[in-house]
Amino acid sequence: MPQIGCACPVCSSADPRDRRRRCSAYVKGEGASFLIDTCPELREACIEYGISKVDAICLTHAHMDHVAGFDDVRRFNTINGGAPMRCYADGKTIEKMHSIFPYIRETRNELGLFRPMIHFVDNAEPFEIGGIKIERLEVSHSFPCFGYKLTTRGGGTLGYVSDAHELPPATLERLRGVDVMIMNCLRERFHPTHLNFEAAAAYFREIAPGQGYTIHMCHDFSHEELLAKWKAAGLPVEPAYDGMEVEV
Ligand SMILES: [Zn+2]
Ligand SMILES: [Zn+2]
Ligand SMILES: [Zn+2]
Repeated sequence: MPQIGCACPVCSSADPRDRRRRCSAYVKGEGASFLIDTCPELREACIEYGISKVDAICLTHAHMDHVAGFDDVRRFNTINGGAPMRCYADGKTIEKMHSIFPYIRETRNELGLFRPMIHFVDNAEPFEIGGIKIERLEVSHSFPCFGYKLTTRGGGTLGYVSDAHELPPATLERLRGVDVMIMNCLRERFHPTHLNFEAAAAYFREIAPGQGYTIHMCHDFSHEELLAKWKAAGLPVEPAYDGMEVEV
């Protein structure tokens, strides 16, 4: 947001919170940090928010709005002294990443670092980065896509579901009562592959997080309008905005 060529009140809003990049999150643990997805604006977001250290990447799925900034991982390879970056995802997403970015497979070039150096890892089993336990959770985004549950050493919990239109019972079970729940809420009207406001509200009621945040919104709502809608719904949910920080 704004959308290209749209003059609607939300796209022309003067509120900086209504200028939204595609979804990515930066998670800082104890001594290590990782990205969830590499959105197309990854480079400018890292510059704006002073992100200079990334130790790993976790992907939700290989849609372009979540991975097209992947080439910029090269810079973090350089910062990390040329070490390959571990990139955690499910097998299908790893396959897709190789077809979207075929040059990742190439191994040698005397002319320099022309490709992201990636070590892909299938993350079917829970794993840990910087003292944070990371569990992959299956959601439906018209096809199987993934969210994450993060648990800190101190027991703090955060759920992250960027793209889904349905959360299966096993995933809901894992997310119930998390301290922070971050979930997509695309728009007002029904959408076949994303949660609309009504569906997101129903899941927030069911999950009952300490605090909820919505991401992946289109221009159906301004930040202020969506904030008012969550208040009116009686739910502890707020729209997230670019650069927002949450401590768990
Ligand atoms: Zn618009
Ligand atoms: Zn998607
Ligand atoms: Zn998306």
